[in-house]
Amino acid sequence: MILALLCGLRIAGAAAEDLNALAVLDPNASFLRDQGQGLAVRLAISQPVPYRVSFLADPPRLVVDFREVDFGAAPPAAADRSDRVTGLAWGPFIAGWSRMVALLDRPMRLASAEEVAGAGGKAVIRLALQPTTPADLAATAARDAAAAGDWALPRPAVTAAPVMHRQTGDAPLRVTLDPGHGGLDPGAESGKQSEAATVLGFALELAEVLRRAGMVVDLTRESDVFVPLETRISVARAAKSDVFLSLHADALAEGEATGATIYKLARKASDNASEQLAERHDRADILAGVDLTGNDDEVASVLMDLARTETQPRADRLAEALRSAIQSAGVKMHRHPVQEAAFSVLKSADIPSLLIEVGFLSSADDRARLADPVWRAGLEEAILAGLQAWAIPDAAEARLLRQ
Ligand SMILES: [Zn+2]
Repeated sequence: MILALLCGLRIAGAAAEDLNALAVLDPNASFLRDQGQGLAVRLAISQPVPYRVSFLADPPRLVVDFREVDFGAAPPAAADRSDRVTGLAWGPFIAGWSRMVALLDRPMRLASAEEVAGAGGKAVIRLALQPTTPADLAATAARDAAAAGDWALPRPAVTAAPVMHRQTGDAPLRVTLDPGHGGLDPGAESGKQSEAATVLGFALELAEVLRRAGMVVDLTRESDVFVPLETRISVARAAKSDVFLSLHADALAEGEATGATIYKLARKASDNASEQLAERHDRADILAGVDLTGNDDEVASVLMDLARTETQPRADRLAEALRSAIQSAGVKMHRHPVQEAAFSVLKSADIPSLLIEVGFLSSADDRARLADPVWRAGLEEAILAGLQAWAIPDAAEARLLRQ
């Protein structure tokens, strides 16, 4: 159900430059507040924009999509003033559109929605939400999903049946690089520096290094857009990649974390910090409005487990090859250079997948290193060397298994 698709392009008489001007949110005049048992949302923007309201269940979420709105530097938390909103994210979503997602502490429904013109060509979007039953929210969410069209994020694809193919050394190695975060999910932040921008820059440089060495490289994103975790895996699968490397530069409150760190998919629970890191990445997807329902194909799960039996040792050897190459290059690594965590993005059963924290934005030393092009080039060359060192015996094994 498209509850409110307002063609807010009331631009008659507007100056031509206004047509291209980005609407800007005024965080000081915007709020999400308790209203009785429900929620009142007020979003003050510099000009009217088309917008759409929809809902997601499990967990309950309010989603507002706008024609591109500049949220400026305002952190979502600045406008979150209701206990009923347990999480809030906003920012670029898909090309030309922005999204706000509010995680609700109970099922709610839209009671009213309006966009009113204010003084000086400004506009206010007002939404009123009322509590509802879980069943009503589920029905609304199902209707919204059916009507999502261009706003729909791809369905989770993790349980898609694996397609086993292995590099045998007779074709260039295909690598998917996955710059973490992006769009309304900036990842870790340190001052004006975001993890999303840091790792995108690193990934684009690394892609060039690998391509110059003859590898074929795909990227899960090449700009500041939001990409769901499951889609990142789908990109690698569609590209028939031999290797998937997710690149991050997270922050850890512990303050201990410094130096490049390689993460493998955890077979069992790993330490607290790793678990929190993995959870935070999944939470960004939930906050962005990814629909996590309907992801339990049992036949596919069995096939996945079979595939993983062969893939996991290959990923282990890749982690070891990368660690060895990075340390040989004299690049600073974490005191535990290879760790395990339950990162969703590593759950591809058929493609050896690793997550590399190129450094931690919470560490001043790491931030300085990441800003240094010479240091980055050293790490990029080391990753190339690690991939090359791994690919030769891996291809030999594949040829052997094929006989
Ligand atoms: Zn991250």
